[in-house]
Amino acid sequence: MTYVVGTEPPTYCPYCGDGVDERDVDGVVTPYCPGCDATFFEEQLVSARATVVDGDSVLLIERGRGADVGVLATPGGFVEPGETLPAAAARELHEETSLRVDPDDLELMGTGRIAFSDGNAQLFVNFVAPRSAVTGTVDPGDDAADARFWTRIELDAHPETGDPETRTLGATGLEQLLGAMEEYGE
Ligand SMILES: [Zn+2]
Repeated sequence: MTYVVGTEPPTYCPYCGDGVDERDVDGVVTPYCPGCDATFFEEQLVSARATVVDGDSVLLIERGRGADVGVLATPGGFVEPGETLPAAAARELHEETSLRVDPDDLELMGTGRIAFSDGNAQLFVNFVAPRSAVTGTVDPGDDAADARFWTRIELDAHPETGDPETRTLGATGLEQLLGAMEEYGE
């Protein structure tokens, strides 16, 4: 039994149908069925994201569907069963921008958690690659309303990314992004 962050925890046991109790798991109140000795952990959705840095610019998409349509984000999405995190980031990069990168060329940039306006949340793992390690031409995919490179000046001027009080940038830690631009900019 799993459920997504932001949804209600189970009130009955999916195995025996009895009502569930609660138990303390490392300080977290967690649904528990004493009869089945079953604990129902909250599943955390994980998205793998690929940041591409080109000179003083970084590749961003506008979300085309789901929570927060129109919000800026780095290309990325949920990890599929059997997939490694870098492979998921590379696949999502291709699906959303048409660019291709070898998962082995992606470097870990950082991790974090993002909360969406609909109450859901996800963990994210950010990878980064320089444009020189990426092939193809940017062309937004079905999940993206737009995809293009943004300069640091454009980011600073954009209401979503320029104001330190409201920096969200979708599912990306903006500080990680700006750090990657400094480190990987050519
Ligand atoms: Zn039970």
